Amino acid sequence: MSDALKQTVQEAFNEPGCATNRAKPAEARKKGCARPLTPGAAAGGCAFDGAMITLQPIVDVAHLVHAPLACGGNSWDNRGSASSGPMLYKTGFTTDLTELDIVMGKGEKKLYAAIREIVQNHAPPAIFVYATCVTAMIGDDIAAVCKAATEAFGTPAIPVDVPGYAGSKNLGCKLAGEMMYRHVIGTVEPERTTECDINIIGDYNLNGELWQIKPLLDRLGIRILGSLSADARYRQVAMMHRARVTMLVCSHALIGLARKMEETWGIPFFEGSFYGISDTSQALRTMCRMLVERGAPADLIDRCEALIAEEEAGARAALAPYRPRVEGRRVLLYTGGHKSWSVVSALQELGIEVVGTSVRKATEADKARVVQIMGDETHMYENMAPKDMYATLKAAKADILMSGARSQFVALKARTPWIDVNQEKHEPYAGYMGMVDLVRAIDRSVNNPVWEEVRRPAPWEAARPATGLRLAATSQDPAPGPVNDPKDFEDC
Ligand code: SF4
Repeated sequence: MSDALKQTVQEAFNEPGCATNRAKPAEARKKGCARPLTPGAAAGGCAFDGAMITLQPIVDVAHLVHAPLACGGNSWDNRGSASSGPMLYKTGFTTDLTELDIVMGKGEKKLYAAIREIVQNHAPPAIFVYATCVTAMIGDDIAAVCKAATEAFGTPAIPVDVPGYAGSKNLGCKLAGEMMYRHVIGTVEPERTTECDINIIGDYNLNGELWQIKPLLDRLGIRILGSLSADARYRQVAMMHRARVTMLVCSHALIGLARKMEETWGIPFFEGSFYGISDTSQALRTMCRMLVERGAPADLIDRCEALIAEEEAGARAALAPYRPRVEGRRVLLYTGGHKSWSVVSALQELGIEVVGTSVRKATEADKARVVQIMGDETHMYENMAPKDMYATLKAAKADILMSGARSQFVALKARTPWIDVNQEKHEPYAGYMGMVDLVRAIDRSVNNPVWEEVRRPAPWEAARPATGLRLAATSQDPAPGPVNDPKDFEDC
């Protein structure tokens, strides 16, 4: 690792804006936040992957991966960030280095040529150039190539010097924020500003979640000036330094960026969530209060309260028909951070019993909220191996598992419905109407007649007569073939 990258990583590990980080002794802080990997367990993405996740939703930028083909292919669009306009971010650009290119030292030349080609064919407002393990190890100086290309072609080429080996995906997200702070934010001035301009950091408009929130902000006259990086344009990132308030959405990875923007440009920030009814209201309240403190008209607070009252009443009315269909159902929630407590409280409001929730990525404050909502710590889980998750689903007689995609097969083996509530999900669940959509999805899953069929013992599992003779075949019997051993389904 280059000295410059080492220095950047160490700075990222020392985050005074993060309470968890502050509570650690200096020695522990140097090691960062990632847990050591468990041999044999699936590991999350690399630092480069984290940087791509954070920046790829900037939709009009060309994202150029300087690497052999696989790095670009593996990281391309692995979350469903939606765009309301440009689609360039969906094109995978890579320098596609071969062994020969590496041996002959052609990496930097290929990178320069690729930038030129993109400028000529796509004319984007900017090109983000991502370093990866291979190109960082062979010593390609992407910062120098970007500088030369920017001068030659007049289009900003921004180095994202976050190779995979620098660390975890989470670290990559942090460093991506740092790259924006160093090279992009503050480079463009907006044509006009208002007292109600905000930044939203840490939201990625997954399947259009931002669009469940934006109409509420529009009604209050609040403008999203800067976004990192939900449905963002390059200029929006470059103008973030002129917003009045920053909202940090469910993301501790980017807290360093929010803190630096506060120190550099005096933009205060708050952490909030748009998952769940009460959390959405709380986020809107805090946002309006802080905007008023920074010069927005005082009536913004009253208008916000009126909007909250109207939206909460609307959401509760929309949820009422689902209550008898989901009341008393038992949910195991396996997600992280803010999402746990905001979803737990919303589900409990509907009479759904939460039999357990994970607190993997939760802060101490998040955990305290979960205890407050659920009564004690007995149903909080840090990490759950698939086997334990299977056992918990069975023991707790859970009716549904809500988790990320990695756990879906555990639910299937336990013959339990499953809903994706993580980043890869295909339905947006943000804001008031998002909560209604989530409960609709729960209803659709738990009341689906297929589960009754799936849980019924198979015909070939029926007891055989004591004589040992086989029952006569019926027309409903499966075709002859290898017999499934029920134990195959028990062991996950
Ligand atoms: S950057 Fe490194 S760790 Fe990440 S995908 Fe590429 S080779 Fe793998």
